[in-house]
Amino acid sequence: MDSEHFGTRAIHGGQHPDPSTGAVMPPIYQTSTYAQKAPGDHQGYEYSRTQNPTRHALERSLASIEGGSHGLAFGSGLAAVDACMKLLSPGDEVISTNDLYGGTYRQFVKVYEKYGLKFHFTPMGHAADVASLVSANTKMIWVETPTNPMLNVIDIAAMARIAKEAGALLVVDNTFATPYLQQPIALGADIVLHSATKYLGGHSDLVLGALVVHDDALAEKLYFIQNATGAVCGPMDSFLALRGIKTLHVRMDRHMQNAAAIADFLKGHPAVSAVVYPGFEDHPGHAIAKAQMSGFGGMISFRVASDSFQDASKVVSHLKLFTLAESLGGVESLSGHPASMTHASIPKDQREASGITDGLIRLSVGIEDVRDLKADLDAALSLLL
Ligand SMILES: *Cc1c(COP(=O)(O)O)cnc(C)c1O
Repeated sequence: MDSEHFGTRAIHGGQHPDPSTGAVMPPIYQTSTYAQKAPGDHQGYEYSRTQNPTRHALERSLASIEGGSHGLAFGSGLAAVDACMKLLSPGDEVISTNDLYGGTYRQFVKVYEKYGLKFHFTPMGHAADVASLVSANTKMIWVETPTNPMLNVIDIAAMARIAKEAGALLVVDNTFATPYLQQPIALGADIVLHSATKYLGGHSDLVLGALVVHDDALAEKLYFIQNATGAVCGPMDSFLALRGIKTLHVRMDRHMQNAAAIADFLKGHPAVSAVVYPGFEDHPGHAIAKAQMSGFGGMISFRVASDSFQDASKVVSHLKLFTLAESLGGVESLSGHPASMTHASIPKDQREASGITDGLIRLSVGIEDVRDLKADLDAALSLLL
């Protein structure tokens, strides 16, 4: 692990000027193949599915910012999830966060159950509930924290203890927190996963996934899967992700500052009945968030007073700066209506049991001037009064 502080690693971690030209930013090596002087006599690069210098630079950066030894970059966050699943064999069991990202849930249930993997979905607020699901076949524990959109917080170190005892791998999807705020490997995770589409890229201009590990043998297995199944990202997207990472800490500071101000503003608004934000002391995950994260992130969910679809829809349709769109983590603010958008495929009673009611709105608070963001929300919410 590099010894420098985060902001330095984000910019320099695993990076060096291009050896052939001195270029400070790694060039976009838009090539599929590499010349060999004689059979097998090459410079470490043979074919770009296996290795590409731009992707390699990104992978070294990912390892550095997560405090791991190896990074792997994929064509999307779900391709990174897929690579983790391929570590498993028929009959193996996975214990997973119940309110995980919808696409991950879909891949587990619709793709991998038919290959003989068994998934247990459970809230992970109490370690004993998770431990009670461990069997001889448990090979992986899957944690996403904070979760989407209820921002539940899971104790990573507690899950690491259970995983270790069970001889299972602990995977942590660190997309919402980012490595600036949460370092799962230091807390005992075996694999850290990212949808770099979100905060790492940070500019809503690419789709990319990542894994980071801190173990040579595990890295070897994952590199084999990456090359053998081929879901790699291209050099252009690798370049964009690397460029995004260089400002991660600066962006996150402003995301957090703005989110804290917006959460306070919403809490005091007469058209709002509840605000879900891990920075509030009455949030059920506040204490753990405070202990394992160095900040509360840029995501907020809130409920309109009537809790109706009509009112929530009215608000998100009238917001001007908070663009109504899927995704999160870009510099621009986004709004979303989980019940009809990201979580529409979950049955209504199941959805509501976990808090995703029709009146819930999710915000990815961007880094615009917070006065304008508040004014935008106030104008839309005032329509309900
Ligand atoms: C978006 C997201 C994913 C999936 O990543 P893609 O890049 O869209 O494939 C996985 N986990 C979380 C928490 C996400 O937000």
